[in-house]
Amino acid sequence: MTARRILVTSALPYANGHIHLGHLVEYLQTDIWVRFQKLRGNRCVYVCADDTHGTAIMNRARSEGRSEEAVIADMRDAHIRDFAGFGVEYDNYGSTHSPANRELCGQFWQALRAKGLIAEREVSQLFDPTAGTFLADRFVKGTCPKCGTPEQYGDSCEKCLATYSPTELINPYSTLSGAKPELRSAPHAFVELEKLHAWLETWIDTSDALQPEIANYLKNYFLKEPLRDWDVSRPARYFGFEIPDLPGHYWYVWFDAPIGYVASTAEWCARTGDKLADWWQNSGVEIHHFIGKDITYFHTLFWPGMLYAAGYTLPKKVHIHGFLTVNGEKMSKSRGTFIMASTYLKHLDPAYLRYYYASKLSPRVEDLDLNFDEFAAKANSDLVGKVVNLASRSARFVQDTGLSREYPDDGGLFAAGAAAGDEIAAAYEQCDYARATRLIMQLADTANQYVDAQQPWTLRKNPETAARVQPICTVTLNLFRQIAVYLAPVLPRLAGQAGELLHAPITSWRDSQTHLTGTAVAPFQPLLTRVDPVKVQAMLDESKDSLPGGLQSQSESTSVLTAPAVSPPNANPSAGAATLDAISRALEDAGKMLLETTTKVAKTASETLGPKVQSAFGTIGKAVDHAIKQVKHQMAQAVGGGDPTVFDDSPESLDAEPLAATCTIEDFQKVDLRVARIITAEEVPAAKKLLKLTVSLGGEVRRTVIAGIKAAYKPEELVGRLVIVVANLQPRQMSFGLSEGMVAAAGAGGAEVYLLAPDSGAKPGHRVH
Ligand SMILES: [Zn+2]
Repeated sequence: MTARRILVTSALPYANGHIHLGHLVEYLQTDIWVRFQKLRGNRCVYVCADDTHGTAIMNRARSEGRSEEAVIADMRDAHIRDFAGFGVEYDNYGSTHSPANRELCGQFWQALRAKGLIAEREVSQLFDPTAGTFLADRFVKGTCPKCGTPEQYGDSCEKCLATYSPTELINPYSTLSGAKPELRSAPHAFVELEKLHAWLETWIDTSDALQPEIANYLKNYFLKEPLRDWDVSRPARYFGFEIPDLPGHYWYVWFDAPIGYVASTAEWCARTGDKLADWWQNSGVEIHHFIGKDITYFHTLFWPGMLYAAGYTLPKKVHIHGFLTVNGEKMSKSRGTFIMASTYLKHLDPAYLRYYYASKLSPRVEDLDLNFDEFAAKANSDLVGKVVNLASRSARFVQDTGLSREYPDDGGLFAAGAAAGDEIAAAYEQCDYARATRLIMQLADTANQYVDAQQPWTLRKNPETAARVQPICTVTLNLFRQIAVYLAPVLPRLAGQAGELLHAPITSWRDSQTHLTGTAVAPFQPLLTRVDPVKVQAMLDESKDSLPGGLQSQSESTSVLTAPAVSPPNANPSAGAATLDAISRALEDAGKMLLETTTKVAKTASETLGPKVQSAFGTIGKAVDHAIKQVKHQMAQAVGGGDPTVFDDSPESLDAEPLAATCTIEDFQKVDLRVARIITAEEVPAAKKLLKLTVSLGGEVRRTVIAGIKAAYKPEELVGRLVIVVANLQPRQMSFGLSEGMVAAAGAGGAEVYLLAPDSGAKPGHRVH
């Protein structure tokens, strides 16, 4: 098979703003596709650039008192940093404000002129005489001509929703200078797109370049009527390229932006010695544009028209994706869901987002919802629980021996995984990453079933069975590597780590088809850890508009601090009890300080804002206390438990207390288990082992429970926490009082008692099913 030649672009990010998670839907989608093509051995070039021209940049530079060049240079650095942070790897990242782009704009312009597609005519527009510039509608404000509301924008009234022309505003003024605008007319240049109407229709019908829903949309809307002329020039002052044969006039930003794709390729060619024409004027090259649905019109009508007129290769495919919603809603600054790429990177591993987006992306033009519960669940169960787990449960056992010399009999597992490669590749090729990741996770499930059944961690303890450990781990690590190859477009870092672990870098899709035998196995390093909900919350909090303090910030602190399930930190097995003690003390100090501060603030607040606020602070105080205890508890577990990704549990507990006889579901249903909150806890003075608890099942329903947990818990640690109680247990008279239930706990007894707690979201009164 000969390698394909593929040129890929993502839409150019505008230099007026930072990259956010919405943008990343596109850049990650494209990067995954490009990495897939490269892994398959195709010659694939991925170019992008900053989109730098236009009024917004000009006005920003003006308001910041510096040059446009300085503004766009800073933003370019930030964009490049953000892309690198998420592993988006361009072959060239250019700028539309480049010599290459200026030259190419001139060539496209001449080609359009030569085809008779450029027309010039006068356009009247409001002009700011102080700023010396024509004003777009949103740079004019005044009184609504319909309802008389002052301070309305030039295109529509927020009060009565009327739309109008900016020249109709009463007492209009320029938002740039405050000056009264004048109506002035200036010549504008237009592309007469209607002259390409028939050609565009044929291209859309016959090229297969557009998704069916997009092709139908264009045919049923825009192409039903004559296409309007496209205004492609702006009079001075404007930040852009001056049109050579129209002095004092500039190409509109949307004219030079897509030409930026070609210019960025030209820069790449200059570095590699390739010829630009070999890539852009060569029917043997596939051109693939990835864009969002908001810029469909530009990329499916204007841009093909320009390419056609200039004699360039038309796109083989325009891949159009939908928008990002977060937790089912539009991204919002007040909810903290307008998340910048750099904010995400401060708190979370980019691999989670790359995988999450991949698992949701299909070839259809659909919006993608980022739900943080699902986000954590997918990363934890798929990546950590299924994929990384394969390596963490086997690599350590063959660290001294390496992989077997001969590939062992695996019952056809590896061959089945190799056979799935074509189907997975086809899914990637069609941008159906949701399907690709689903297929890969099926392989991971099968591989885990194999390890679960073989249990190398048990076999190695017995000299008679220890010899089976190496072949079993050889199979497991081969299956792990096969999965890492298939996931490499999505998780390039994991593929790199897999290469290091087994001393065999993953460089080609074909690596999924061949066994690895006889290689050394490097000491196992944790490859990926579970999503820490505390960090997710911290990212959301940091994404919120800067808060004025007061009530809003309180409720937010509460939500951070009551975030449950602090996942074990990336534990270092050698971290000893001394370290834990030191951290515990530091946490306790921090807790005391927080409580003191909270109490002080609460006092001041209640004097000015009333008792409700004071009670809110009380809640925060308890939450702080509770959160710190949870962190301590989890840390203790992590330090005691060693590497959190290795599951090597001892059979001791089960041996000590064998499984009970089978019961039916009806038997189980007789026991009414409920979530309850401990509201008081006190010692029973005469009893060494007992604590007396009052638990709430919600509303006014309370139970007194006398529990044998005194050796494991201090009463003050318990107040406020959620537990599971047997709520319909027959009350029992004890010498210390009546016990009306039981608190569910695990462990051998004495100090080894571990209360059960529900995950976050559970409320007192919820039944356990
Ligand atoms: Zn109005």
